[in-house]
Amino acid sequence: MKWQRLLADAITTADGLLTSLGLDIRHLPEIDNRPDFPIRVPQPFIDRMKRGDPSDPLLRQVLAVSDERHPMPGFTQNPLQELDGPIPGVLHKYRSRVLLIYRGGCAVNCRYCFRRHFPYQNRTLVRHDLDDVVEYLEAHSEINEVIFSGGDPLMADDGALASFFQRLEAISSIRRLRIHTRLPVVIPERVTDTFCQTIASITLPVIVVLHINHANEIDEALINAVSRLRTVCRSILNQSVILAGINDSADDLITLSERLFEAGIDPYYLNVLDRVSGAHHFDVPEEKLQILHQALLDALPGFLVPKLVKEVPGIGHKVLW
Ligand code: SF4
Repeated sequence: MKWQRLLADAITTADGLLTSLGLDIRHLPEIDNRPDFPIRVPQPFIDRMKRGDPSDPLLRQVLAVSDERHPMPGFTQNPLQELDGPIPGVLHKYRSRVLLIYRGGCAVNCRYCFRRHFPYQNRTLVRHDLDDVVEYLEAHSEINEVIFSGGDPLMADDGALASFFQRLEAISSIRRLRIHTRLPVVIPERVTDTFCQTIASITLPVIVVLHINHANEIDEALINAVSRLRTVCRSILNQSVILAGINDSADDLITLSERLFEAGIDPYYLNVLDRVSGAHHFDVPEEKLQILHQALLDALPGFLVPKLVKEVPGIGHKVLW
């Protein structure tokens, strides 16, 4: 099935999600049926969940629960203080890199997302803003890398991406493009032939950073999609968020790194949870983070140990934690 159809058919209610997994409200009394941040889960991701298991680690990433409504000190709507870029939809946090909020929507709504309250409606790039972006990049020759973010940048169609890539390619100071996306993970069909041809046709190296938190997210369809991407991209990396109840055990994280490697993906970052309101139930205590990271260092070769990092507002790089 085409990725656009899978996207349009995504499940958007807690009841629909539970029904498709053979669960009911008795198994999950804590669910929130009317969350402010809507539920959205495409079928290929649901297919990787274990039927009848209310603790499934993929289900728990996407199921809204009543805990999200409880305010928690230190957890805020805009934890990274990201609203003020030079142009709406452009964040210039790192000197040599610029981050584009290229599209506002996502194929999946992850409950821990640090942009779950982000005002996408007036801070997302739309067609008429692209001239401003190109002008900004031409005026800032210290920027050599463009990072596509969102939302999910692969919500854009292949034609829009192709024409924008070509405009970026014409800017002499730009040396590479980076695409941060979760879409191929939840809908592997998004890795179309046209998308691969688009990447192959530009001279700039392209790096794709996927977002996978648990080994169960990696199935044959994703492995095939990654293998297509590997033929045209310079590298395929992964970043995860460490999440209580999802992947906060040494076994989970070691298995994830091993599965990523088997799938042709290099572990890159293990992000400490950004303290966004609605996500406090995913927080992992500081001491446990250090213990888990040490367990990875003890068990894995260096190239399979992701860097444990945190984004700190006002600091122009990720902070090693
Ligand atoms: S796909 Fe990424 S941006 Fe979208 S909700 Fe999930 S974590 Fe947030």
